[in-house]
Amino acid sequence: MSAHESQSSRLHVLDHPLAATQLSLLRAKETPPNEFRNALQKIALLLLLEAARSWETTTAAMESPLGRFDGSTLSRSLVLVPILRAGLGLQAGMMSLVPEANAGHIGLYRDPVTLRPIRYYSCLPSNLAESQTLVLDPMLATGHTAVEAVSLVKQAGATRLQFVCVLACPPGIETLQQAHPDVPIIAAAIDPELNRAGYIVPGLGDAGDRYFGTGHA
Ligand code: URA
Repeated sequence: MSAHESQSSRLHVLDHPLAATQLSLLRAKETPPNEFRNALQKIALLLLLEAARSWETTTAAMESPLGRFDGSTLSRSLVLVPILRAGLGLQAGMMSLVPEANAGHIGLYRDPVTLRPIRYYSCLPSNLAESQTLVLDPMLATGHTAVEAVSLVKQAGATRLQFVCVLACPPGIETLQQAHPDVPIIAAAIDPELNRAGYIVPGLGDAGDRYFGTGHA
C-alpha cells in the first residue's frame, strides 16, 4: 500500500484502489447496514496497515522447517481505543488482524447545538504508557471529539498515539493538529467541508446509525 502525505507530514491519506472501493460502498446511500459493517471492517484493516508502517519490530532468530530466519514481533503492545459508537466498527476490523490488542472505550456524544463533546463513559487499559495506542473514529469532523478523546488517553498515560479515521475534513484536521501536534492522523480520504450540523460533506452520513442500522431516514 502506498500513502501520500498531504497538508502536513503528520497526515497520512490512503491512496489505494481497495480503499477507494470500500469507501465508495460506505458513502453510497443505498448500502444496507450489513454491507456497511463489512466495508467499514475491511477499510479498518487497510488503515491499520498504514498506521503500523512506522511501528518498531523486534527480531529474534527462529527456524522454519528448512532453515534459520530472523523472526519479527511487534516491540510494543497495541491498544485500540474506539470512540463510541462508530469507532467500534474500526475496532472490530482491526481485531481480526491483531486479536492480542487490548481495547479501551471512550463514550462521547456531540451536543447538537454547540457541537462540543460530552463524555459519558471512559474505560482504558492500564498498559497505555508502554503501548502503541490507536484512537479510532470513522469521522474526523469538527475535531472537538477527537481532541477530547486524545486528551483523555494522554491523561491515562499514553505517549505513542495515532488517530485513525475513514474520512477527515480540513477543519477537523486543523483542530486536532493544533491541540495535539504530536499525534499523526491516518485517514482513507479527505472531504472538502462540513455542513451546519457538523456532518462531513459528501461524507457518508451518520457512521454510527449506518453501522448499527439505527438511522431514521
Ligand atoms: N459523525 C458522523 O457520523 N458523520 C459525520 O459526517 C460527522 C460526524
